[in-house]
Amino acid sequence: MSSDSTSADDDQSAAGPESAVETARRQLRRAAGHLDIDPNVVERLMHPKRVQEVTVPIERDDGTVEVFTGYRAQHDSVRGPYKGGLRYQPEVTRDECVGLAMWMTWKCAVMDLPFGGAKGGIAVDPKALSESERERLTRRFAEEIRHVIGPTRDIPAPDMGTDPQTMAWLMDAYSMQEGETVPGVVTGKPPVVGGSEGREAAPGRSVAIVTREAVDYYDRELADVTVAVQGYGSVGANAARLLHDWGATVVSVSDVTGAIYDPDGLDPNSIPSHDEEPGAVGRQDVPETLTNDELLELDVDVLVPAAIGNVLTGANAHAVAADVIVEGANGPVTTAADEIFAERGIPVIPDILANAGGVTVSYFEWLQDINRRAWSLERVHDELETEMLAAWRDVCEAYEARDVTWRDAAYIVALSRVAEAHEARGLWP
Ligand code: GLU
Repeated sequence: MSSDSTSADDDQSAAGPESAVETARRQLRRAAGHLDIDPNVVERLMHPKRVQEVTVPIERDDGTVEVFTGYRAQHDSVRGPYKGGLRYQPEVTRDECVGLAMWMTWKCAVMDLPFGGAKGGIAVDPKALSESERERLTRRFAEEIRHVIGPTRDIPAPDMGTDPQTMAWLMDAYSMQEGETVPGVVTGKPPVVGGSEGREAAPGRSVAIVTREAVDYYDRELADVTVAVQGYGSVGANAARLLHDWGATVVSVSDVTGAIYDPDGLDPNSIPSHDEEPGAVGRQDVPETLTNDELLELDVDVLVPAAIGNVLTGANAHAVAADVIVEGANGPVTTAADEIFAERGIPVIPDILANAGGVTVSYFEWLQDINRRAWSLERVHDELETEMLAAWRDVCEAYEARDVTWRDAAYIVALSRVAEAHEARGLWP
């Protein structure tokens, strides 16, 4: 699609849902329109610096060989080494990695972390592989992307379908080839090999912190708000638990099979997350069950889409009844839905701020690895709180100074920092 303007149902066209890179490019163009930046810099930021596409052959447990395709998209590194997750998912494509890498550039910049943006992954269903097949896949992938990653070059982390164990294998494979242990090549590792305390729960924690601040911004008390959370993986479950602990009433949560609903409030602490016990959400004894689509349309104060991208679209945005949306997943709101929410006056607190706790604690992990010194969980929580509040204040300032959406405000903060760094460094040669 060549135009910036979309009609409400553009993202549900025959071509399928809007791709991450299309959404990311539209958002960049919009944000650039609010700023006086060199159009050449904006043009450069529309494209990734490099996308490494690799073939990843593995021997299956039955002795046959299967070949998968992997990617590492590196968007921009003007502020520091590339940083971003690796996802193992059948839907992974080059374009998706590029769009998600662009979001990582803004996410790191809005948090003022000294990193650029990257994303990668393998088009594979990790659940269809045994653990040893996943290990072989990860080690071979590490070998194929070894020359583009490194602790001062590009630092992968977990994302959908990958976990701390995946990062431990990647770190081991890289270290074996380097001839020395290099913990800082990935973040999100198990603490026993240089991972940070609090890393796994960090994206959910930042979603909860940002929700708390947004509720306060709109002069409400957490104790008076109802919350619905779509997705009960690490992000959704940790956000739901913290918000519950801080006094909010979490009325609905869901996993891929559907949602559970209790108008009097659920206790997320007693519901195992998808990672802890797959399918546990559906086994709860609750007054009502709903579909995932119905959850999105619940009349709640705060809606947290924390499952996958593109769930709020031109087709359902009119039916959303929440007062505030906080993006837990990356890219859950399409451009068409964003426009509808803006028209309807429903604030959307964007992913690049709300779930940025993950990459922020990744930064803490990287610092700990460099210094060979582990921080306590308490220190991680304190420093994350400080970083999130600083970013929240920066975004609030941009939001109040200009008549823009929260997403535009976060982009304005991020893009100004990236563009200033580009202008200061100049174009080589
Ligand atoms: N995959 C996470 C994200 O989307 C974390 C990236 C990181 O820690 O580098 O923010």
